[in-house]
Amino acid sequence: MITAPAFAGKGWGVLGLARTGRAVAAALVAAGGTVAAWDDGAAARAAHEGALVDLNTADLTGFAGIIVSPGVPHSAPIFAQAARHGVPVMGDTELFALALPHLPPARVVGITGTNGKSTTTALLHHLLVCAGVPAAMGGNIGLPILAQEPLPAGGVWVLELSSYQLEITHSLACDIAILTNITPDHLERHGSMAGYAGAKARLFAMQKPGATAIVGRAAQGQYRVAAGPAAVTLIEDVSLPGAQADWPGLQGPHNRENARAAVAAARTLGLDDAVIAQGLASYQALAHRMEPVGEARGLLWVNDSKATNPDSTAPALAAYRRIHWIAGGRPKLDGAGRADLSAVRPNLGQVVHAWLIGEAAPLFAAELAGTVPTTQAGTLDAAIAGILASAKAGDVVLFSPAAASFDQYRDFEQRGAAFRTAVAALSATGEP
Ligand code: ADP
Repeated sequence: MITAPAFAGKGWGVLGLARTGRAVAAALVAAGGTVAAWDDGAAARAAHEGALVDLNTADLTGFAGIIVSPGVPHSAPIFAQAARHGVPVMGDTELFALALPHLPPARVVGITGTNGKSTTTALLHHLLVCAGVPAAMGGNIGLPILAQEPLPAGGVWVLELSSYQLEITHSLACDIAILTNITPDHLERHGSMAGYAGAKARLFAMQKPGATAIVGRAAQGQYRVAAGPAAVTLIEDVSLPGAQADWPGLQGPHNRENARAAVAAARTLGLDDAVIAQGLASYQALAHRMEPVGEARGLLWVNDSKATNPDSTAPALAAYRRIHWIAGGRPKLDGAGRADLSAVRPNLGQVVHAWLIGEAAPLFAAELAGTVPTTQAGTLDAAIAGILASAKAGDVVLFSPAAASFDQYRDFEQRGAAFRTAVAALSATGEP
C-alpha cells in the first residue's frame, strides 16, 4: 500500500466506494488520516467499514480534500459543494502525486490519448520488466495505484490516465508524458473538443522543465495541445528497432504507433534497442485487442472483440493478408437508421469474405454490397463453421465486430471469451 506523511492528521472525504475508493480510504487511514466516505449506492455504503457521511450535502469545512472516482462527472453536486467550502476535489492519482516525494526516488510516465492508452501502458511496462527495471502499472489499468507496493529506488511508475482522471489531478509532474492521439470523444462530458483537448493538455502543463513529452502529430497540430515546458518528441518520427512482422502482439497500423510511443519512452528511460526489440517480440496483446488466440486448422485466429465501432475495426483490417472478417452485433445507427461502415471501406482490400452476425448482419450486408463477398451467418458459431468450410491454409480469421455486443452477449469481454472458447475447441479436436 502507498501511504504518505502528507495524508496524516487531516480529514478526507472519499466519494465512490468501488475498488479505487476502497483503496484510497484504506491508504488514508493507514497513513493516519481521518476518512468520511460516501457512495450513492446503498450496497456499497453497507459494505464500507468506516464513517459514512453524505458528502454531497455535508458541511465540508476543514476537509483537506475530497477524493472522487473518475466516473463522477463535473456536473455532480460534490464539485459545487466542495467549491462552496473551498475544498479541493481530486482523484487517487493526485494523492499518489502527493505521496511521491515520500517514496524511494522513481520516475513517472503518464500516458493518455483517445485510443491506445492501455496498449502503450502495458507495452512500456513489459519493456521495462524485460530490461530488469522495477516497474509498476496503474491508473486506468491494473490494481488501484494506492493499493500497490512502493517501487524501490530507480523504478518506473507507468500510469494510464484518462481525461477524466486528468481533470482531477493537479500536481503530477511526469518525467515522461505521452499523448498517443486525440480524436473527438467524450464530448458530452467535456463540452467541446477544446475542453477535451484541454483536459489532455493538463498532463503536459504539470511537467517540469527537463522532462519529456511524446506526442502524436495530430494532437500537436490539428488540436493544438500545448506541450508545456517539456522537450517534445513526435511519435511519427520515432524509429523502430526491428520489423513489426516480428511482433505478433502488436499487429496493425495503430499498434505500430503505440509501439513508437512506448519505444521513445523506453529509450528516454535508458533502455537499449536490443532489449527493446526483444520486448516488442515477446509482448502479448491485451485480451480482446488484436489478440492472437490460436492457430487451429491451419488458420490464425485473432480476437479483437474490443472493437465496438467501425473506427476501431478499420486498423485491424489493415493488419493481415487474406482475412476472414467476422463482424456484427448491435450496430451504431446514424440519424437515417444506417449502420455506416465508411470508416472500414478503405481497408477492405485484404478481406476475402465478411461473415456477419447479430442485429447488424442485414445492415452490414447492405453496406458492404459490391465490395467484398458476405454471408449473413447470424451467430459466431455459424460464422466459424462457414469459415472452416471455405478458408485456405494460412488465412487469418479476424473477429473485429465493429458493433456493440449487447444483442448476443453481456459485454465485449464475454463476446471475446466466446470466440476464444470456440477456437480452443477447434484446437482440441485436433484436426490438422
Ligand atoms: P484505450 O486504453 O485508450 O482504450 P487500447 O490500447 O485499449 O486503448 O485500444 C483500444 C482500441 O483502440 C483498440 O482495439 C484499437 O481499435 C484502437 N487503438 C489502439 N491504439 C490506437 C491508436 N494508436 N490509434 C488509433 N486507434 C487505436
